[in-house]
Amino acid sequence: MRWDAVIIGSGIGGLACAGALAARGRAVAVLEQAAAPGGYLSSFRRKGFTFDAAVDCIAGLDPGGLLTRLLESLGTGDGLTPIRLDPIRVSRFPGLTVHVDACLPAYVERLCGLFPAERDGIAAFFRRAAEIYADVTGMMEAVANASPPPPATGALMRYGPLTYAELLRLDIRDRRLAAVLSDRCPFLGVSPGRASATRMVSLIMSYFCSGAFRPRGGHQQIPDRLVEGIRRRGGEVHLGRPATAIRLEGDRCDRVVTADGAEFRAREVVSNADVTETFGRLVGGDAGRAILAEIGERPLSPSFYVAYAGVRRRAAPAASSIGSFQDFDLDGLLGRYAPFAGIDPLGITIPTVEDPGLAPPGHDTCIVHELIPSGWAADWAEDRDGVLDRLLGKCERVLPGLRADLVHCEAATPATLERYTRNRRGAAYGWDQTPQIARIRHGIRNLHLAGHWAETGGGVLAAAFSGMRVAARILRGGA
Ligand SMILES: Cc1cc2nc3c(=O)[nH]c(=O)nc-3n(C[C@H](O)[C@H](O)[C@H](O)COP(=O)(O)OP(=O)(O)OC[C@H]3O[C@@H](n4cnc5c(N)ncnc54)[C@H](O)[C@@H]3O)c2cc1C
Repeated sequence: MRWDAVIIGSGIGGLACAGALAARGRAVAVLEQAAAPGGYLSSFRRKGFTFDAAVDCIAGLDPGGLLTRLLESLGTGDGLTPIRLDPIRVSRFPGLTVHVDACLPAYVERLCGLFPAERDGIAAFFRRAAEIYADVTGMMEAVANASPPPPATGALMRYGPLTYAELLRLDIRDRRLAAVLSDRCPFLGVSPGRASATRMVSLIMSYFCSGAFRPRGGHQQIPDRLVEGIRRRGGEVHLGRPATAIRLEGDRCDRVVTADGAEFRAREVVSNADVTETFGRLVGGDAGRAILAEIGERPLSPSFYVAYAGVRRRAAPAASSIGSFQDFDLDGLLGRYAPFAGIDPLGITIPTVEDPGLAPPGHDTCIVHELIPSGWAADWAEDRDGVLDRLLGKCERVLPGLRADLVHCEAATPATLERYTRNRRGAAYGWDQTPQIARIRHGIRNLHLAGHWAETGGGVLAAAFSGMRVAARILRGGA
């Protein structure tokens, strides 16, 4: 049999692509090296606690949202209960705690109350943000309908070359306010002075306009339902079955080979895997090496050290998503990043605030995220307990007494993330999320990249969008 498309990887980018194709009657096969689907968008269970492996919250689960429509098109949207977070996050700065309201006008009013002299600047900043996000929603709409992309409008092009700090400087004078508006930079892993303005705005605005969600029961619910929908439509999803080679015939892919020697013949091949895995290992040989040389040395996004803690609940936590910054100078904090140093930012997710079923009665799950710069050298095994204890100690500035209440605790290092997903150095968002990310031109006509290594960038919604965009291109018969 020749598959309409063989998709390598069942991260959200791969599943969104496979799902969009299967929903429109295409024969698809998904090959996943890990035992469970989802890549970074997955969960695991320990001692009665359910932990999301990586992700705090995502957009796209509102009625009419990109992921909702994808699940509906596969007939597996029912039974998924998206929990909308409000506040989206609580951001703590020295002497200032800011609730990020789910409702944008309420948040704007809150900021105007805190920074009254900046009222006009705040309005101007969010006008620009709305302009940029209107372009993004236009593209998402086209992708959801598998229709051609709309003509490029001004805002994405105009602001595309800017960093987020440059965008902020157009309207915002107060450096404390600029820091507050940059509180989600750790979600892209870059400082405001290096982050792509349009990516940051897309991220922030997606949470206001679509909503910031977690599915009840944990993020694993999403890939599980996508897999179910793909299989119901006659597609195959093979778990624990790594692809080991993409075989070419001239400038086209002919088939994908798996570790057990099976061959999947394909009209189109979609790789959701890391770019080095795709070209260095799967395409391989001179062709793969030449493509990697052409791509050149691009910086990778940072990774994370993630601590998963099950704790006895003493008092109800203030919010389920908390960011803590010891300084308003986010360029300094994120630019000269020294993990576990004490003054660096901290991200904490306590999903049991809204979804108590993730822990035994009277307990919380508490997931702590510590950014790790790409290539940061550490022998994680050497001081395993010490590192974890230092991080939990740091966490106590937000959650006093955390260590005394621990019932279970384990951690994932960048090496763990790499082992489970094959993202090089455990890169959390693919390439470094600066304005410079360019489309990879590899010259293999029926090979497509879907996910956060593609030019749409990192984050779950962007990776899903990328996968659905590839599906739309395949459905239209374009390369
Ligand atoms: C700690 C952390 C926190 C994050 N928090 C958020 C957040 O709150 N919100 C948000 O939107 N984003 C967040 N992100 C980013 C987001 O998770 C990713 O950008 C997104 O999930 C990437 O999806 P993907 O499909 O591109 O890739 P992945 O999820 O990396 O999936 C790639 C898949 O390909 C498979 N694969 C690789 N090689 C092969 C092979 N040879 N054969 C078969 N299968 C293969 C892998 O096993 C994996 O399943 C976070 C990331 C991390 C690490």
